[in-house]
Amino acid sequence: MKLYTICEFCRSNINVKSSCSTRSELQMKEGDHLSVYCSSCNELNKKHVNDICAQANGKVLLIALIISIIVSAILWMILGAIGVISVAIIILFAQQEMKAVKSFNSYLIRRK
Ligand SMILES: [Zn+2]
Repeated sequence: MKLYTICEFCRSNINVKSSCSTRSELQMKEGDHLSVYCSSCNELNKKHVNDICAQANGKVLLIALIISIIVSAILWMILGAIGVISVAIIILFAQQEMKAVKSFNSYLIRRK
């Protein structure tokens, strides 16, 4: 999962570097407002934590896909059968990722 916000000057996406998995965690760590620097127009944006959105990280899903291919290849060699395991792994990863994104985006901090 990655966090991003929209630049108010040039409307481009700004990636927010944070390891926080929930909005409340982000608020606790960074406060109500975050200062994010737009790399496209070099403007400093002051963003409320509610303006930060989460997005599924394609990289994580790709890694999950690769792992599931490797696992099913190994299983193929050992058991001679390709199971639903590889499919289950990628679905599990994707589900986890989507759940984290959904919970981040659905939880809003009360604005003061
Ligand atoms: Zn910008």
